[in-house]
Order: sequence, then C-alpha cells, then structure tokens
Amino acid sequence: MAQKLAAGNWKMNGTEASLAEIDKMLAAYPEPGCKVLICPPATLLDRLSTRIGDGPIATGAQDCHMKASGAHTGDISADMIKDAGGTYAILGHSERRTDHGESDEVVKAKSAAAVGAGLIAVVCVGETEAQRDAGQTLDVVGTQLAGSVPDDVTGETLVVAYEPVWAIGTGRVPTIEQIAEVHDFIREKLVDRFGAETGNAVSLLYGGSVKPSNAAEIFAVANVDGALVGGASLKADDFGAIIDALQ
Ligand code: PEP
Repeated sequence: MAQKLAAGNWKMNGTEASLAEIDKMLAAYPEPGCKVLICPPATLLDRLSTRIGDGPIATGAQDCHMKASGAHTGDISADMIKDAGGTYAILGHSERRTDHGESDEVVKAKSAAAVGAGLIAVVCVGETEAQRDAGQTLDVVGTQLAGSVPDDVTGETLVVAYEPVWAIGTGRVPTIEQIAEVHDFIREKLVDRFGAETGNAVSLLYGGSVKPSNAAEIFAVANVDGALVGGASLKADDFGAIIDALQ
C-alpha cells in the first residue's frame, strides 16, 4: 500500500522570512495524518530541517548531482542534502529538464545517486501540451519513466510524480479521467518492471496547479497517493488545506 504524501516544491522562492510559514504549519499540523514533505531552495534546506527537527514533516532538495563530490560548480550532492537534514530529492522536474537540458539518462543517474546515498527520489514525468494534443501522452510518460527511474529502487525509496508540463503554474488541470488514465498507466508500468509488491508500494503524486479547491477531487482518484505542489505550498493556509484533503 503506497504512502500518502503531500509534497511542496518551493522552487526558487523563499528566504529566512518564509520560514514563518513553517511555524504556522507546525502549529496547525503537529501530527498530520499523511506524510508531508517540503523542498525549499538549497539555501534554506539546513535552516528548515533544523527548524522542523525530528517532527512529522520531512525536507528535501529540488535536485542533486549524480556524482558524490568534485569540480561541479553550483551543484550539490546527495550526501550534502543528507548533511543538511534532507531525506528526499526531487529529480527530473520539467523545469530542470527544460532549463538545464536534463535527459532521462541524467535524471536516472541523479536518482540512482540519491537512492544510493539513502535519499528518497521523487522522479517527475509528464507531457507537454503539444505531446498531449498529438495523442502521445502515454508514450512520453512511459519513455520518461523507463529512462529516468533507476533499477535499484523499492517502494520506500521511490516516489513518482506525474506533472503535465502544461498544468504546472498555469491554473489548468487535466480532467479527472486524464489523471486517472496516466496514474493507472504508471502503476501498471511499475508493477511490470518491479513486481506487484514494489510497484504497488510506490507513492504516485499528481502535480500541476493543485490548490485547496481541487485537491479533494484529485485525491479521490485511484492510484493518486498525493500531490507535488508548487505555488500553493508557499502559504501555510493553502498547503494546510491540501494536507487536510489528503489525510
Ligand atoms: C511544481 O512545480 O511541481 C508544480 C506542480 O507547480 P504548481 O503547483 O505551481 O503548478
């Protein structure tokens, strides 16, 4: 049975002042009924992890390098994420695939490095609007999934996020049927590749303009185990309402 997970991706947002939102969340959700994850920018990971302590909310990074250390200016490694208190890493977000030209091979190597170091990899997949319009959604998602997820994963070390690129930050959301179709497909592919025990234990998140007003409907879809939330994770009230809908 996959774990329910509400994950927040702060992207390139947040400074010291933003941590006040976390205090609000901790006060409102001292014991959330689902796993909660916040991935702040790397500059805040240590501070956020320290602030949260050993409580029920996990922290993670938005990327990690495939190598353990070395001459890679500006990058951070999986061990550095762990050292800063993080337990998860988001890999292959569409903004990284686009802005940094990350291929499936790169995402796979980064995910393997994250899992190898003891982190949980949140691997993102999703089609562009042109690909959906061309009827290529399942082909694209299937190819990304096969190419980006490393072999050595378990239900405890892998999370997959389905994030249609055209729904991220746009306020547009696929229909419930479209979300269900892709999530069922991802589940089937994971079961085919890793077997039923592991495949059914991987949490499948939907991401793309999730907000308090649509969260409950999305979470009611079979094979949706939670959400990867961008904009709405920045405000404790909005993210809290999404946690409420999931728990
Ligand atoms: C994201 O960045 O992963 C995301 C889903 O963003 P938003 O919720 O703002 O669409």
